[in-house]
Amino acid sequence: MAQTAKKDEGILLVVSGPSGAGKGTICNAIREKFPDLQYSVSMTTRDPRKGEVEGESYFFRTNEQFEKLIEEDAFLEYAKVYDHYYGTPKKRALDMISDGKSVLLEIDIQGAMQVKKRYPKGVFIYIVPPSLEILSDRLYGRGTDSEETIQKRLAQITSELAMAHQYDYIIVNDKLEDAVRKTSSILEAERCKLSRNEGQIETIFKQYINKEVPLK
Ligand code: 5GP
Repeated sequence: MAQTAKKDEGILLVVSGPSGAGKGTICNAIREKFPDLQYSVSMTTRDPRKGEVEGESYFFRTNEQFEKLIEEDAFLEYAKVYDHYYGTPKKRALDMISDGKSVLLEIDIQGAMQVKKRYPKGVFIYIVPPSLEILSDRLYGRGTDSEETIQKRLAQITSELAMAHQYDYIIVNDKLEDAVRKTSSILEAERCKLSRNEGQIETIFKQYINKEVPLK
């Protein structure tokens, strides 16, 4: 009888970068391309925007509720981004990974650095806009944020770019389809890493050793 091999963990794919780099658009395309990739729905204290759905876009909570969860250590990471809290609920993400499922996090840079400390096996991708001009056009073009918010976001860009060196991969988001192809390639390559497939290798090798494969 075949023995059960240990289950390989899923990949924690962290996509991060300055606001306006296009990480949301890239992540949406990646989710379509890899339907088995689980998306971690973040929690935030900011107000829902038009069309956003509770539990799909975010879990929308009050400051008080969020701070209580911080005390309970319920977040894999959390950060204050432009005056609002954002965080990744810890349990669901880590349970899925230990169950062999890969999980996508689209989070800001402060949060990504916390995940790197807590879960260094994650794969960290930094998305960078091709130029300040394009970044500025994108932030204004979205039409979702006030002038003040956009100015705050642009002011942070220099310190955010300096953090790129902490990541495993960098993608310049010039053409969306190129950026999506590169992100897909990273995920595929990481999935093939030997160190991530010990359980699968063991299962295959055992079949040969136990002659479970019919020899012709
Ligand atoms: P927005 O308010 O535009 O949806 O998101 C603002 C910023 O917060 C984006 O850079 C987004 O990636 C980041 N963000 C969204 N969810 C999380 C999260 O769970 N943790 C952290 N640290 N940042 C997040």
